[in-house]
Amino acid sequence: MLSVQPKGKQKGCAGCNRKIKDRYLLKALDKYWHEDCLKCACCDCRLGEVGSTLYTKANLILCRRDYLR
Ligand SMILES: [Zn+2]
Ligand SMILES: [Zn+2]
Repeated sequence: MLSVQPKGKQKGCAGCNRKIKDRYLLKALDKYWHEDCLKCACCDCRLGEVGSTLYTKANLILCRRDYLR
């Protein structure tokens, strides 16, 4: 569900609505995100780190820990 994509055409970030100029952008929920903008809705931890997994529940983006809680 979470994928890191090489920079292509500039996309807007679903978190802050600014253009993503970073080297990598994240794609989740069919939207694009800055690495810094993709955070858990509950504990605010960054979900953009390589290897981390992202969970969704009721349109919230959650980390594994909060999802399982
Ligand atoms: Zn952003
Ligand atoms: Zn969390």
